[in-house]
Amino acid sequence: MPSRREFLKSAAAAGGAVAVGPAIGPAAGTELEAVLASVAVLPTAGGEYTLPPLPYDYASLEPHIDEQTMRIHHDKHHQGYVNGLNAALGKLAGARQSGDFADVQQLSRLLAFHGGGHANHTLFWQNMAPPGRGGGGEPTGRIAEQIAKDFGDLARFQAHFSAAAAAVEGSGWAVLGWHPLLGRLLVQTMMNQQNLTVLGTVPLLVLDVWEHAYYLKYQNRRGDYVKAWWNVVNWQDAEGRFQHATR
Ligand code: MN
Repeated sequence: MPSRREFLKSAAAAGGAVAVGPAIGPAAGTELEAVLASVAVLPTAGGEYTLPPLPYDYASLEPHIDEQTMRIHHDKHHQGYVNGLNAALGKLAGARQSGDFADVQQLSRLLAFHGGGHANHTLFWQNMAPPGRGGGGEPTGRIAEQIAKDFGDLARFQAHFSAAAAAVEGSGWAVLGWHPLLGRLLVQTMMNQQNLTVLGTVPLLVLDVWEHAYYLKYQNRRGDYVKAWWNVVNWQDAEGRFQHATR
């Protein structure tokens, strides 16, 4: 398999892909390797973050998530977080140059919000796959065993995660994460893009419950959106992230 340096070089040559990662793991070309290679969200060589392309067609999550929602969500909302992240980083670099940190509190907040938005959405797109072509079904492998250990069984985990997602007040996310110090999986929720998180948790599976993620198709029926979302969950991606987090 290519070295990390070669991989970075080819990723840059391919147009500034942001999702690259460690060059270790199973044999080159496997699905799992692709997951392991995508666990990090890195800027281009110039230090700018860019919008990663969707790993599938906009319409391919139909009927569970509609094409128009995916277009607006990816092309407009995610792009907005990328732009906001780059702007905040630029202003922080300027502050370090000038020594004027008068705006550091606001810039720190913007960096967390937009950086969180960029990381969350990059993960979210990869956490999904077209139904029947990698999306839906049940987890296998080590994450399936860990879910059974920490939540009882898959149905209990899904009920817990779905309830947490439905109960997020206003805009936010539901997260299945691995906590290396606790040695267990956690269901967490986030306000906006970053608040209320537990430090050190590695996100494995995230669900966007901002209204922009579902309102065109589901209006106020967030619970129906959450129920439909299980049909496009890419468990192979979550398994790859779990293996990476616990290796
Ligand atoms: Mn979103």
